[in-house]
Amino acid sequence: METLTDNVFRNRDITVTYKPKLCVHAEKCAKGLSDVFRTDVVPWINLDAAETQRIIAQIRKCPSGALQFCENEEEE
Ligand code: SF4
Repeated sequence: METLTDNVFRNRDITVTYKPKLCVHAEKCAKGLSDVFRTDVVPWINLDAAETQRIIAQIRKCPSGALQFCENEEEE
């Protein structure tokens, strides 16, 4: 996994962005998938800790829109 900036994370399949100003800290992400969304580690998102489809499902449950993802373009 690659950390592009403090709030952009990428694995083979997806790029995840986190907008702290939008986050309402409900910790839905940390409670739902704690190996990926970690409250006490830097960088706090580890995209290698679960299958991409599970990460996507969790991101879709983020109530504020702070977490978003896009699928990576295929690399040649
Ligand atoms: S689920 Fe979304 S709003 Fe809740 S803590 Fe995670 S990023 Fe913040």
